[in-house]
Amino acid sequence: MAKIFPLSEFNSLRTPFYFYDLPLLDQTLAAAKEAAGSPLYKIHYAVKANANPLLLKRISGAGFGADCVSGGEIQQALENGFAPESVVFAGVGKSDAEIELALEAGIGCFNVESRPELDVIAEIASRMGKVARVAFRVNPDVDPHTHKYISTGLKENKFGISPELLAPLVETAVSNPSLDFVGLHFHIGSQITEMGPYELLCERINALQDEWNAKGITFKTINVGGGLGIDYQNPDANPVPDFRGYFDVFRRGLKLREGQELHFELGRSLVAQCGSLITRVLYVKEGLSRKFAIVDAGMSDLIRPALYQAYHKIENISSPDAPEQAYDVVGPICESSDRFAEQCMLPEVKRGDFLALRSTGAYGEVMAMNYNCRPHPSSFAL
Ligand SMILES: *Cc1c(COP(=O)(O)O)cnc(C)c1O
Repeated sequence: MAKIFPLSEFNSLRTPFYFYDLPLLDQTLAAAKEAAGSPLYKIHYAVKANANPLLLKRISGAGFGADCVSGGEIQQALENGFAPESVVFAGVGKSDAEIELALEAGIGCFNVESRPELDVIAEIASRMGKVARVAFRVNPDVDPHTHKYISTGLKENKFGISPELLAPLVETAVSNPSLDFVGLHFHIGSQITEMGPYELLCERINALQDEWNAKGITFKTINVGGGLGIDYQNPDANPVPDFRGYFDVFRRGLKLREGQELHFELGRSLVAQCGSLITRVLYVKEGLSRKFAIVDAGMSDLIRPALYQAYHKIENISSPDAPEQAYDVVGPICESSDRFAEQCMLPEVKRGDFLALRSTGAYGEVMAMNYNCRPHPSSFAL
C-alpha cells in the first residue's frame, strides 16, 4: 500500500521541507524496545542521524538513551529530554571544551578512541574533581560489506583501537582515580542488512572477554554500536526494520556475563523511514533524449545521493496515477552531482507537483547546508 501524505497541509508550506510521520516513529521505537526485551539491553539513539527536536523529544520520551559525537549533540540531547547518565560520547576528536561540557553534565560514558584522548580526559577530570566513566572503542576487524565510506570496524582506520594495543590503556583506566573503567565499545559500520557481520562481531567479543577475564579484568558493559540497515527500495513494505532478527543475533551469539549490560547505538534504523523530503517540481525540461524533472530541493537539502550514491525512492504524490515516464530528477544547484535519480520511472510530472523522496529521516536534515546561499529546509511533522 502506498503511503498517504497530507497533501492539503503541504499546500501552504514552503518547499522543500522534511515531513516526519510521528506515528510511524512511535511504532518503530516501540518495536525496537519490544524486540530488545531485556532491561539489560539498552538502546542509545545515535543523535547524528537526526537531531530535530520533534524527533528527539519522542525518542527520549520513549526511554532511549543518546549516543552523541560532539558537544553540540550532547547539548541538543540534554535540551530535548535525555537524562545525562543515558548519554554516551564517541568520536576520535573530542576537544577539551567538549570533554569539560560532558564531565560537567555528568554523562554516562566516554567511548575513548585513542591513548592521548584517554590521558586528556583523565587530566581534565582530575582538574575538575570529577571521575570520568570510560569505555574503549575497539576495532574488531569485521567487514560489514557496506559502502567504504561507512565501514568503520576494519583493522586500521581512524576509528577505535586495535585489540593488540589495548592492554596499557586498560591498565591506566583501572588504576587512575579520575577514571572509572566500564567496558568495551564497538561499531562496525552503517546500513548493514546481512546479519553475518554481527555474528562475527559476537565471536570477536566473546574471544576478547575470555582473554581479559583470564587476566582478571571484567567489563560492566559491552556496547555493540549501531549500523542496522533499512529497506530503501520498499519503504512501504518494510516501514519498520527487523529488530527481532537483529537482537536475536546478539542473544544467540554473545556470551554475556552475569548482570552485564549490553548497549546498542541505533540511528538510521530508528528514524530513516519516518522522514520524507518533500519538494516541488519547478520545470520539466526536455533534452534530446532525456526529460529532466527540475525540483526545488537540491544536494544542500539532501546530500546522500551526491555523497555516496545513495538511493532514495521518489514518488509523484500529486499525480500518483498518471502514466509513467523516465526522468532525471535534478536540483537547482550548480554541480552535476546535484541529482537525486537518473532515468527514474515516475507518473508524468508537471510543474507544481509534489515529489516525495522517501526514507530520508536519517542523515538527511542533519546534513543540510547553505551552499549557494540557499536556506535550510524546514520541517513539518504530523
Ligand atoms: C553513526 C554511529 C552510530 C549509528 O549508526 P547507524 O548506522 O545510524 O545505526 C552508532 N555508533 C557510533 C559510534 C556511530 O558513529
